[in-house]
Amino acid sequence: MDVSRSRDLQEAIKDISKRSYKAITILEKCQSCGTCVKYCPLNIRKFNSENKAITINSDKSCGGCSVCFHRCPNNAILLNPIKKQHVK
Ligand code: SF4
Ligand code: SF4
Repeated sequence: MDVSRSRDLQEAIKDISKRSYKAITILEKCQSCGTCVKYCPLNIRKFNSENKAITINSDKSCGGCSVCFHRCPNNAILLNPIKKQHVK
């Protein structure tokens, strides 16, 4: 690998390491099956007042483990990139 490609790769890795992901729901696609609520390891997927599953604000923040993303049968969940805090 040449030096510039290696540098590009290092920059890309550095950029990725500053990111985290948060699961968000495409509400119109959610069929309220409860799969994400059942399998989220942090227990931060809950039904809202319209019976759609959302990622709640919690002291445990969604790290984007992607369990819900992969298990949702309706492709109703997106992993949204967010900047990690306290990372320089
Ligand atoms: S990405 Fe992981 S931690 Fe975040 S809401 Fe989905 S299952 Fe839970
Ligand atoms: S797995 Fe998908 S369809 Fe089922 S409750 Fe969660 S977001 Fe809705």
